[in-house]
Parts: sequence; C-alpha cells; structure tokens
Amino acid sequence: MRDPRYDILFEPMAIGPLTAKNRFYQVPHCNGGGYRDPSAAAAMRGVKAEGGWGVIFTEQTEMHPTSEITPFIELRLWEDKDIPMLRKMARAMKIHGALAGIQLAYSGINGPNMYTKEVPLAPTALPIRTFTNDPVQARAMDKNDIRNLRRWFVTAAKRCKAAEFDLICLYGAHGFGIFQHFLSRATNQRSDEYGGSLENRSRFAREVISDMRDAVGDTMALTLRVSLDETIGDLGFSNAEVRDFIEMNRDLPDLWDLAQGTWEDCSGPSRFKEEAAQEQLVRGIRELTEKPVVGVGRFTSPDVMVRMIRSGTLDFIGCARPSIADPFLPKKVEEGRIEDIRECIGCNICITGDMTQGMGRCTQNPTWMEEWRRGWHPEKIAARGESENVLVIGSGPAGLEAARALSMRGYDVAVAEAREAFGGRVARERHLPGLSAWGRVVDYRLYQLGQRPNVQMYQGSELGPDEVLDLGFQNVCIATGSRWRADGVARQHVMPIPTAGRLPVFTPDDIMEGRLPSGRVVVFDDDHYYMGGVMAELLAQKGCQVTLATPSAYVSDWTINTLEQGAIHRRLAAAGVKIVLNTGIAAIGEDGIETCCSYTDARSALPCDALVMVASRQSNDILFHALKARAADWADAGIRSVQLIGDAAAPGPIAWATFAGHRYARELDTGVWQEDWGDQPSFRREITDLAVD
Ligand code: ADP
Ligand code: SF4
Repeated sequence: MRDPRYDILFEPMAIGPLTAKNRFYQVPHCNGGGYRDPSAAAAMRGVKAEGGWGVIFTEQTEMHPTSEITPFIELRLWEDKDIPMLRKMARAMKIHGALAGIQLAYSGINGPNMYTKEVPLAPTALPIRTFTNDPVQARAMDKNDIRNLRRWFVTAAKRCKAAEFDLICLYGAHGFGIFQHFLSRATNQRSDEYGGSLENRSRFAREVISDMRDAVGDTMALTLRVSLDETIGDLGFSNAEVRDFIEMNRDLPDLWDLAQGTWEDCSGPSRFKEEAAQEQLVRGIRELTEKPVVGVGRFTSPDVMVRMIRSGTLDFIGCARPSIADPFLPKKVEEGRIEDIRECIGCNICITGDMTQGMGRCTQNPTWMEEWRRGWHPEKIAARGESENVLVIGSGPAGLEAARALSMRGYDVAVAEAREAFGGRVARERHLPGLSAWGRVVDYRLYQLGQRPNVQMYQGSELGPDEVLDLGFQNVCIATGSRWRADGVARQHVMPIPTAGRLPVFTPDDIMEGRLPSGRVVVFDDDHYYMGGVMAELLAQKGCQVTLATPSAYVSDWTINTLEQGAIHRRLAAAGVKIVLNTGIAAIGEDGIETCCSYTDARSALPCDALVMVASRQSNDILFHALKARAADWADAGIRSVQLIGDAAAPGPIAWATFAGHRYARELDTGVWQEDWGDQPSFRREITDLAVD
C-alpha cells in the first residue's frame, strides 16, 4: 500500500471551520464546458472526488451580470435559478468526502460584458484587458458602486451556501479578479480611501471578506487567490508587495491561494516552465500568516509534493493540470501505485477548450470532459465484446492508447510498429527543444502495456496487406500516422507552391530524422501550431541563420490558445531568429524564395540556402486503402473489422490521436462507429429548457 514517506500528503488540515481530508487540492480550472455543459462539468469534478482529492473547486463563476467574460464559457451565479446547476456540481464533489469549493469572479477591468451589454465597472477607468483587445473601457466605480459590489458578494455567498458549497475562493489572481484590480497600483489609481497606500488598496478585500464572513463564515471557509507577482515591477502588485499585503492582513482569509502573475505565467507549458516553477516566489510567505497556504506548479511527482510541505513552503498541493491528466493521482499515491500515475505533459491543450470555447481535451487523459457526455471513466472500461483480438498497426499516441484501452477491456492485442522505436511521432518530437516532457505520452503507455499479459509488442515490423491478411486477427486498427508535406500545400496554398526545383526543401520529418540544412535557412510556417517555432529554435541552436516567415500576424499563432505564443516569440527573438510576419511564399526560386505580403501581395526576394516547409501533413493511409480493396478476402482471413484512426485518418495534435485511440477501444464491438453514423450525436448533450414566457 502507501509508502510511508507520502503519509504527510494524507494528513487532514483545517481550513477555517472545516477540515480537508488530505493535502491534495484541486485549484479552480476552466474546462470549456461551464454554463453550457454543466452536467459534463459536474461529472468531471465527481470523478476527481472519486480519485481522492481533498478539496475540489469549480472554475471561475461569474457572480453578477455587470461583469462577464464572453466569449469564454465559465459558470454563472447571477440569480437563484443558477443554484440547482451549481448544487449538482457541489454534490458531485462531496460524494467521496472532499470539500467542495466555488470560485467567485468579479472580472472588473477584465470583463468586456459582450453578452450583458452592461458598462464594465473597475477601480479605475481604463481599457478592458482581455486576450482580444475589445474596444471597451470600464467606468471607475464610485462609493455607491463599491457598496453595491460588497452587497453582491454577500448575496453570491448566500447562494453558494444554498448550493451546498463548503469553500468560496475569491479570485484576485492572473490579472483576472477585482481583488487584484484593487490591490495593484496599475489598475487602482484612485485617490480616495480605496487607493494609494497598500492599506487603502487592501480595504476592498478586507471589507468584502468581513461582510461575507458575517453572512456565511460560521459554516463556510473563505479563500483568497492572489497573484504572486504581477510581473510589471513596481508599477503593479510585485512579489514584495504581495508579502507586505499578506503580513499586514495575516488572518484575512481562511487560506491563501497563491498563483503566479498572468495566466500565461501561472500555467506555463513544460516547454517554458519546470515543475514547481513558482517555488521561489512562494517560499517564506507561509511564515507571514497563521493561515494555510496552497500553491501550484504542475506538480505530478509525490516526492516534490512532500518536499513542498516538509520545507514549509506549502500546506496544500494545488493542482489543476495534473488533476486533469490523472484525476486518480491521490488515490494512486495512496495505493502505492506511483508508476500508474498518468503525468501531465504540460502541453496546455486542456486550456484550448476554454480559449476556443470548444470542449476541454487532455492529451494524456482522453476521457476528460467525456465522463458525462460519453460515460467514459478514466480508470474503468467495459469488458470486451464478442470478438477476442485486435492487431494495432502503428505505435504512435493513437495506436498505443488504443492498445492500452483495448487490453484493459480484455482483448488480446498485438501492436506492430515499422520502426525500431515505439511511440510514433512522439518518439521523435520528444527530442525537439523543450518537448522532452511530451515523451510521457509514450512512457506511460508503454509501461502500462508492459504490465499486461494480453499484449504483444513488435517493433521493426512494417506490415503490408498480405501480412495483415495472413496474421488472422479479427480486428485491425490502423494507426499508421502521417508525414509532413514538402510541397507547401496548407492554408496559403491549396496547390503545391511553384518551384524552380533547385533550392533544398526540408520537412520537419527530415530534420527529426537527422537531415539538417545549413547556412541561411527560411522556416516557412503555414501550420501555425508549435512545429514551425520549434524548427526555427532547433536550427538556430544548430548554427543556422534562421528566418521564420509566416502568412500569420503572429509567430505560432494557434499557441495563443495554449498560452505560449508570447513565450515562443520571445525565445525565437532571443535565439537570433529573424521573424517575418504577414508573409507568404509566392514561388521557390533557385537561390531563395519570392515572398508575398499576406495583404497586398507585394513581392520581394528572400535569398536563402534552404527552406524548411512546415505546412500540413499527409495521412499514411495506403495500408488501409489496400486492405479495403481486398475486403472480399477478409472473411477467409478471419477479419471482422478494419478501422483507420488518428493521424492516419486526419492529422491533428497529439491529443486528437490519443482521443481517437481511446474512442476506438471504447467502441469496438459496440455497434457504434463513425462509418455507421446514425442520425444522432455520438454523445449526450445538455439542452437549455425554453423559458416560459
Ligand atoms: P498517430 O499520431 O496517429 O498515433 P504517429 O505518426 O505518431 O500517428 O504514429 C504512426 C506510427 O505508425 C509510426 O511510428 C509509423 O512508423 C508506424 N507505421 C506506419 N506504417 C506502418 C506499417 N505499415 N506497419 C507498421 N507500422 C507502421
Ligand atoms: Fe497536462 Fe496537456 Fe493534459 Fe493539460 S492537456 S492536463 S497540459 S497533459
């Protein structure tokens, strides 16, 4: 069972009038579902309860219609009608003995109110600060507004209590909550008793917490989430001032919840931030207060967690992403199953659910946000159906996840991989700059597969249709992946880019296979996720003179959704990469390329020695089509089904591949498969009732 050195993680601890059963604290995190998919969000939190978390929070909950952050989909508590939805969530959290927390957000200078059309209210009249530079400004709150807002917090607290929550987290971190807007000199330029000195800037937080404590503090605990450093030096709420604030208000909340800087700083991907990256900023704060402290840092290692507690840095181990990648992390530590922990890889795909208003996805945990929609549980899966065995061809994230989940269902599984190394694209991409943690996608699955008696793994085994027909498996899952295209077909060009045929053109596959350009290299990025920036970074490290050209206005522009676009641009600039934006390729010449402006089509020559084409990928689906062409032979060969999944069906990010692999395994022998699309969605939806006029 549990290793005694982890006992400390299971010691109960008081938070105000309540006691958490252990130190595993799921801090608030978004999921894309929010008010649109409340049952999906509730079931997701319920699975975490089952997984052993001691404290579980909702995402941010907008607490009054004068402040909302449309288009982002969070929760809402604007009127009593919102309570049943939230009560469903609180009950799901509490079912296994966790404390249920709700995060209240009044977004102030961060809420453009695109839905309610209300005038935003903030401590000081300034433009609204969002990801989208909305052309909206806030009105400065007068004393009456402040009185109203205090009352709205009390009303919200009473509603939280009616919804059966135990804890309320007041959001004042990441630049997102009104508490930070009052505390920071940058957003609070008032000259009355709410502005100026730190004591004055703290007044609003003190008043609200005191009001709320009077209303619900006998039964509920109040936590305050503050940024550890606004990262704009003395112009804002610096780490030194955060410490002064906490010392000055030692007992203000029942728990201090500390989270670094902006959301980008706090949820930095593994490409830019190590585990426990906030340790220095947190260290010593616990000595300034008698109240417990929680902090985050993409903690996946129980040894690091223990160190954070033993060193007196934290009382609770705050996790968002690690709890998404493995909702059963606490339980696995408790049961002494450390190797079974599915560690977060720090890719931030989970954040794209919120940023794109889609549905949350996780690269490591394909069941995330599908707990209610599809009835998927991260640790349980139905026993196999009527067939007995599956041949999985390709060992990338799709093939490995399919094999893992199929083996749990009880199928006999064989995995055939053409290469000597298992892992497909991840086996190669993990060696690119900053992507080593992504290797966990493969390491976790290979370990799990290695534990199962019903799995055979064959490397160096490239299969063609004859071999597949000879092998006699009942089901064939083709996860043969994709290759990068060299012809430039992607978004700017739907047909191959005209070329004089002499300039060497490389793809990311060439480079990952060790064929490298030299001299002056143009990396052309019409893919817009991480690969273009990573190629530029790698080639700069290898001594090339790199220019990154892209038709987009941003380097790696989709990474805005993974909160790393700014960090990528900074890293490339620091590496000496010349960045050329809004620029496509008109033609590939003999000793360079002809570029074209994305807006005016103005042409210019860009001399270079080589071009790296980061455009789109082509599916490796030849085997699938060859087998389809021989469908008449399947019955004799004993084949019942042949399916194409992952990048081999349609290239996408790694999370798309693990989802495809998992889905294949879940749906085998159930009669549900995409080829037989019915007239209904493949998952449950939540449809809002029409209001009665
Ligand atoms: P995905 O992201 O969909 O999992 P990957 O490209 O990561 O796809 O992995 C596909 C894997 O399939 C690669 O490792 C590749 O070597 C392997 N593969 C491709 N064709 C064959 C084949 N005919 N037989 C066995 N393995 C194959
Ligand atoms: Fe971690 Fe990536 Fe999953 Fe997010 S999507 S929890 S960063 S593995």
